[in-house]
Amino acid sequence: MSAKILEGGPIAEQIKAEIMAEIEQMARPPCLVAVMVGDNTGARMYAKMQAKSCEEVGIAYELKEFSDEISEADLLGEVQSLNEDANVDGIILQMPVPEHINARTVQATIAPQKDVDGVNPTNLGRVVMGHPEAAPCTAQAAVRLVEETGIDLYGAEVVVVGHSEIVGKPVALLLLDEFATTSVCHIGTSDAGMLEEHTTRADILIVAAGVPGLIKGNMIKPGVAVIDVGINRVKDPETGKSKTVGDVAFDEAVEVAGIITPVPGGVGPITTAMLLQSTLLAAQA
Ligand code: NDP
Repeated sequence: MSAKILEGGPIAEQIKAEIMAEIEQMARPPCLVAVMVGDNTGARMYAKMQAKSCEEVGIAYELKEFSDEISEADLLGEVQSLNEDANVDGIILQMPVPEHINARTVQATIAPQKDVDGVNPTNLGRVVMGHPEAAPCTAQAAVRLVEETGIDLYGAEVVVVGHSEIVGKPVALLLLDEFATTSVCHIGTSDAGMLEEHTTRADILIVAAGVPGLIKGNMIKPGVAVIDVGINRVKDPETGKSKTVGDVAFDEAVEVAGIITPVPGGVGPITTAMLLQSTLLAAQA
């Protein structure tokens, strides 16, 4: 039997409508500034998407572009002035940045109260201490989808594949706080040939590895809820055109799972909505 497909679009629209209603009550609209260094197609695409979403809900959006020749010290100075600018509520660093810039240093320089992407060490620390609103937007989005499945998390077997700072680790911490029994798999698990052993145990499987089709249909338990965070560009072998796929072999998994999120159109739209929500919260604070 085919799984229920859990679309992110309608949930994102609902979140945006709530944000819009809040902004209408405010004396001035929240302001989000995106910092972009150099010219990268992916970063520019994200910036375009952010600008459109901000406009939809009434958030003022500014893209601050810097040449890829800017020194790290000068960039940190620019971030400091944004920190001090009372008209700026949220700051986000567009990834990737050129090699001579240490993204972590820049992210750590963004004032925690303006870090709407949840990447500052202070905010990651707050996640450990049980503050879900401080978490990176993608982690919040994945958790929102888990909540939408309606599965009781208390004692549920949750398996997270991927242990990055912005997805795997915070997702695991947030679900631990809901009393799920949470395991985190990574490259070591795969290299030890143990990935399938863990994934087939999951009641809820969250995959954020950046490996197209990593999770096959025979690696999941019938009826499981699958949240596919992966976004990968691959070439379609039939048409030769490039397309976006997740980390889960959707056509196989949809026949085994109980609930599954699509890629594109699952976690992605909610991640953007969470960025808007964090900007609103920063402005209200
Ligand atoms: P990272 O590359 O930072 O992390 C990937 C993680 O997966 C690492 O922990 C890595 O382990 C692990 N991993 C890699 N290969 C395997 C494997 N074969 N088996 C088990 N674990 C493996 O990626 P991100 O966390 O930033 O992103 C993950 C995916 O989510 C990407 O596809 C990205 O494009 C997507 N993404 C989607 C967003 C959305 O809004 N939908 C937003 C952000 C990201 P190790 O470090 O040990 O190698």
